[in-house]
Amino acid sequence: MKNDLSVTVIGLGPMGRAMAGAYLDRGYEVTLWNRTPSRAAELVRRGAVLAASPDEAVAANGLVVLSLTDYDAFYAVLDAVDPATLAGRVLVNLSSDTPQRAREAAAWAAERGAVQLTGGILVPPSGVGDPAATAFYSGPRDVFDAHRATLSVLTGTDYRGEDPGLAALFYQLNMVMFWTALTSYWQAVALAGAHGITAGELLPYARNALDLGQFLDFYTPRIDAGHHGGDVDRLTMGLASAEHVLHTVTDAGVDGALPAAIVDLFRRGVEAGRGDDSASSLVEVLKKG
Ligand code: NDP
Repeated sequence: MKNDLSVTVIGLGPMGRAMAGAYLDRGYEVTLWNRTPSRAAELVRRGAVLAASPDEAVAANGLVVLSLTDYDAFYAVLDAVDPATLAGRVLVNLSSDTPQRAREAAAWAAERGAVQLTGGILVPPSGVGDPAATAFYSGPRDVFDAHRATLSVLTGTDYRGEDPGLAALFYQLNMVMFWTALTSYWQAVALAGAHGITAGELLPYARNALDLGQFLDFYTPRIDAGHHGGDVDRLTMGLASAEHVLHTVTDAGVDGALPAAIVDLFRRGVEAGRGDDSASSLVEVLKKG
């Protein structure tokens, strides 16, 4: 193993390449491994070392950052590593997957004498290296603290707790909102396009519509207090409005799967007796699965 300013990065998709690049920018010795070696070319040109095998890459450093598509890829790579090589390593797993799979991988690592820190990065590759960006981490606190400085080269760090599933959970909470909100934008762009309106023309209105902070600030304390009173909005109004959205979309010949799913949810809320309550009462409908 080398000094503190050295790290192994396994997985060179857009994220892993950005991470390895951020370490090179900060003067780290970087060892790489990727299933498709050609993706390492530019980083090797900048001074990184491409290991010949996952075993060699893990052996090179105490801290191993993994940026893989998912945890199937994690096992596909690390199953090939001698358990004796894994022993004593810290595996920083920044691959996306479920909290349960993160817990299983932490146990898998522990059986081999390694420690997993689970991570979840909230920014695209262009945000890697920006201290204002956020990544969640969970796992043993002492191990996180020992490596915080190295992890901070990638992004700001938000330690969520000892449970290895927590970073994955907070990451997926963000992704629930991210994918749904972004898909709503794509839906609006498709509808606008059907009427000859460009994405550029829509942009200021899209930014405004997705700036939901004031709604979140309003609903959050009421939700935590279990208060879904219909004093400001009623779910029956929400259902009628959602139906108007669906019909506007389908009248334009645009795919209506997303607004139809929202109408279905709102209708189930009304059928569950929530019609006179706020649309926030859908939280209670959703909890019942
Ligand atoms: P990619 O899926 O593009 O690449 C990830 C890496 O996984 C590649 O190096 C790929 O190898 C490797 N891989 C996949 N399957 C296997 C396998 N079976 N065996 C060995 N290696 C495998 O992901 P990204 O780089 O875009 O992202 C990495 C992680 O970060 C993902 O979990 C993603 O959800 C998350 N993330 C991505 C963001 C983004 O904007 N891209 C933003 C925030 C988080 P190969 O090169 O050989 O295909």
